Amino acid sequence: MIIKDMFINFCIISTFLFFGNIVFRNWRSNPRISPFVLSCLTGAFLGLFGIIQMHFTFKLDNGTLLDLRQIPIIVATVLGGGISGTITTLIISIARLWLSAPISIVSFLGIANACMTLLITYLVFRTRQSFSRKWVITSLISTLNSLFFFLIWSGFTKETTLILFILILFSSFIFTYLLIERLRRYNQLYDAMSQEVQLDFLTGLYNYRGFEMKYNQLSQEKHIPFALFLLDIDHFKMINDQYGHSAGDAVLVQFAEVLRRSVRVCDHCSRKGGEEFSLILEHVEQQAEAIEWAENIRKNIEKHTFVIPDGRQVSLTVSIGIGFYPLHPCDELLDKTDDALYQAKKAGRNQFCIAL
Ligand code: GH3
Ligand code: MG
Ligand code: MG
Repeated sequence: MIIKDMFINFCIISTFLFFGNIVFRNWRSNPRISPFVLSCLTGAFLGLFGIIQMHFTFKLDNGTLLDLRQIPIIVATVLGGGISGTITTLIISIARLWLSAPISIVSFLGIANACMTLLITYLVFRTRQSFSRKWVITSLISTLNSLFFFLIWSGFTKETTLILFILILFSSFIFTYLLIERLRRYNQLYDAMSQEVQLDFLTGLYNYRGFEMKYNQLSQEKHIPFALFLLDIDHFKMINDQYGHSAGDAVLVQFAEVLRRSVRVCDHCSRKGGEEFSLILEHVEQQAEAIEWAENIRKNIEKHTFVIPDGRQVSLTVSIGIGFYPLHPCDELLDKTDDALYQAKKAGRNQFCIAL
């Protein structure tokens, strides 16, 4: 019987943590959800988890019932902070009163136990220790705390019941820890990998995939106006022919650095491929403003001394095509800006041209 209850409860914990992780990551990446609202939503979600858990109680051998409502309270406090933990505790307490009608001293003992779990978790997780150590300490104290309330309520119980009680609670806390730790690792790996596939291995700027993601996000999802610059190094082939491919690579890395230093931190620089780069300048809508940026970048490249691996110095110039969203619809903007770049090349290079 206990094994069956254990299986059901572990399935509930796994399901809630798995879907909770997906939902929580979606909420967190939504800019319209403030940190406070995120804490409230997390608390409410885990409160629901607690209510479901209270329905699936363990039936111990002397007829007493045990449930794992402490788990959502601990998870809410650890992941969402004090506000989340408080909301989860409130929801669980209200549900406890409602479920246990007529209200008795047992209901209040249950609520006191929930509040103590919140307090223990909050205080332990404020200390400076490793995540795993804090979790184990919280699990130990919460188990003892629950045992204390259980003894008040049931009086002296058989030793085997007490051992079972401690084993069920403590193993559930540790099972939850193992799941959360796995999910945290997967999240970190996923974030690192999705960042990496958007980066250019040579220059560290965004690659074409990174460019496309930003371009689509701004034009199709957020509808934020921006200026698009397409930049192409002039006569770059000569550098390769004259000094070799590795010298060309060194120049590309330095070019990327000058470009990055010439714009704001929030601007999106990418290497489209070869010696072609692009820039997305959010909220730059006026031609005069874009011209100022383009002229600044052009001059910075022109006056920069590029150093190749054997120590020799090289000078470069760049041609720039400029387009604007939403002046040009997103399905035309790239072609129009590319045409402008071509015009800048045709007109003699080392200059910019604005898309018509
Ligand atoms: P233009 O002024 O018309 O742009 O002339 P260009 O020489 O810059 O243009 P072209 O398209 O003729 O040559 C681009 C060169 O860039 C050819 C290619 O060998 C070189 N290239 C492309 N990718 C890389 C790279 O990753 N590293 C190096 N070193 N060279 C590259
Ligand atoms: Mg080119
Ligand atoms: Mg070129």
